[in-house]
Amino acid sequence: MKKMNVESFNLDHRSVAAPYVRIADRKELPGGDTLIKYDVRFSQPNESHLEMPAIHSIEHLTAEHMRNHTEALIDFSPMGCQTGFYALMLGVEDADFKDLLEATFKDILAADEVPAANEVQCGWGANHSLEAAKSAVQDFLDERAAWDVVTK
Ligand SMILES: [Zn+2]
Repeated sequence: MKKMNVESFNLDHRSVAAPYVRIADRKELPGGDTLIKYDVRFSQPNESHLEMPAIHSIEHLTAEHMRNHTEALIDFSPMGCQTGFYALMLGVEDADFKDLLEATFKDILAADEVPAANEVQCGWGANHSLEAAKSAVQDFLDERAAWDVVTK
């Protein structure tokens, strides 16, 4: 395949074994800081995916709750293919990021609401499901030992 500009376009999505967490990109900034982009994959590409209310609520919940654990989260966003998320971190290496993810997802299991799920704070406030988010996060946490295994 032709080499593409986007890192994940060069990833053979047939070869991965979801769920997993992998570093998708790393950039050294002129000031010496390091930006690290994580591929947080919930669903096996082209075999399954998350429904939008679940992925949307996981986005809101993680964006809010992870910041209770770290100031290094820059962005947590869903993939358009609905199989996972990208997390952009400032200088948080792999093992520490996985611990942060585990702590944050445990918070989600204990949450009693989706933050900012309303018309004032969100672009589609009705498009949420706390129950579906918890179910997907529970499945992901159950596979914690497999997060390091990226390919089949
Ligand atoms: Zn939203």
